[in-house]
This record gives sequence, structure tokens and C-alpha cells, in this order.
Amino acid sequence: MLFRSVILRKPVRRRKIIPRVPSFGQQGWEVYHSLVSLLVFGSVAGMIAFASRSGFRTRLYGPIDKYGWEWYVATFVIALLVHDAYFYWTHRLLHHRALFRAMHRVHHVSTNPTPWAAYSFNISEAYVQAGIGPLLLYTMPMHYSAFLAFMTWQIAFNVIGHCGYEIFPRWFLMTWVGKFLNTPTHHAMHHEKINGNFGLYFNFWDRLLKTNHAEYEERFVAVTARSLDSRHPLRPPGDPIADFLPKEKPRTSLTGVRSWHL
Ligand SMILES: [Zn+2]
Ligand SMILES: [Zn+2]
Repeated sequence: MLFRSVILRKPVRRRKIIPRVPSFGQQGWEVYHSLVSLLVFGSVAGMIAFASRSGFRTRLYGPIDKYGWEWYVATFVIALLVHDAYFYWTHRLLHHRALFRAMHRVHHVSTNPTPWAAYSFNISEAYVQAGIGPLLLYTMPMHYSAFLAFMTWQIAFNVIGHCGYEIFPRWFLMTWVGKFLNTPTHHAMHHEKINGNFGLYFNFWDRLLKTNHAEYEERFVAVTARSLDSRHPLRPPGDPIADFLPKEKPRTSLTGVRSWHL
């Protein structure tokens, strides 16, 4: 209640990309599957630790001087680019009709995402997502803290991407940064429409492969314009519960999500 009345004041609430409150059932589903994902990520970390003790060491290193600051910064940037490509292509695969139901449907139960949806995966998808860790750790010499910074970035970006609110300014997509960095609207549309907008951090692959939703930029402008224009409230004027967003009806069956494919 405090969060809703203090943090989510009207200008912020108008930034809700899909203007409905996600159902309690959906949020419970997301929390449960995030905990499952956490166990999977923990098991992968345990396997890496066990492998290292058995002599199959990662390429993590300690003293920065070993490769210098240039390499330190470069590894962070390379990690972002590699993860972005890894996510785009595995995500496209997960949308293939042969894999979608078995591996990716859990994530798409969240048609109106919340921050809890960021790691709401089934076990097999959680292992795919965790794969970026060993891929980087065994192929590229990376300083401990650079890897930690990469992990912090990926968690923060993923949670913001699923937060359900547009955080960037209205003019953002007109800047060069906005052309290449994805926004919460971009990923919310992926959850809402299923096909299209497959990218993670950057818009390179979606632009190159023409998989951005045609209405992406239009939707971004519409969402960000709402916060400026008091004539566009989320509820019609005079509504007795105008301070509250309409609630979605809880799903009676969480298996009811449609199977969408490329
Ligand atoms: Zn997807
Ligand atoms: Zn998502």
C-alpha cells in the first residue's frame, strides 16, 4: 500500500506498459519458478566449483596487472556482446515449435511481466540461461571483479527489462543509445505478443534479422507520452477506484497459455 501510494504516484503509474495489475496467481508462478531457477544456477555454480577443485580450472584471475586495465574493461564489453548473442539465438531456438512448450512456455505465462518474471524459467531453460557462465569462465581470462560486474549488470538489466514500467525518457529512441539499447517496453511487448523482440541488452540482432515488432517505437512513444499527458489517465475520469489499476483476473489454469511459434 505504501509502495503503491508513495512510489507509484500517478506519473509513474502512467508509465505502466500494459496498464493492468498482474494477477496474484501470475506473480506466485513467477516467484516459484524463480526459486527453481535459483537452485539450477546454484547447481551450475557448484559444478564449476567442483570442476575447479578437480583440476578443470576456470580462466578467472586475481591480479589486474596480469592482463592490464584495457583487457579488464574489454572483457566486460566482450561478455555483454557474447551474452547478447547467446541470449538472442538460444531465445530464437526456444521459440521453435519443437521446444517452446517443453522449455519456454513457463516464462511466457507472464503475459504482463513483473520483476519476478526475469528468472521465471522451467528447469531446462534455466540450464540454458546458466550456460553463459561456464561459456565465459572457460574461454576468456576474466578478472573476478569484472565477472562480478557483468553478473550485476545482467541481473539489473533483466529485472528492469521485466519491471513492467518504461523508465527511459520519451526522446530516448531518437538517440543513438536508444537505437541500440533495449527498453522495458521492448521486452514487455515480447511477453504480450510472444513473437518478435527477442533481444536482451542490444537491438543489433532484432534489427539485423528484422524481428523487432513493427509497432515497437510507436508503443514506446505512446507509453512515455502518457506520463506527460493528464488527459490520458489509465482509468476513465469519475471512476470510484481511479487510484487503483484494474486487476487482471487470476488464471484458472496456468497451462492455458497459447503456444506461439516462429
Ligand atoms: Zn520468449
Ligand atoms: Zn522475459
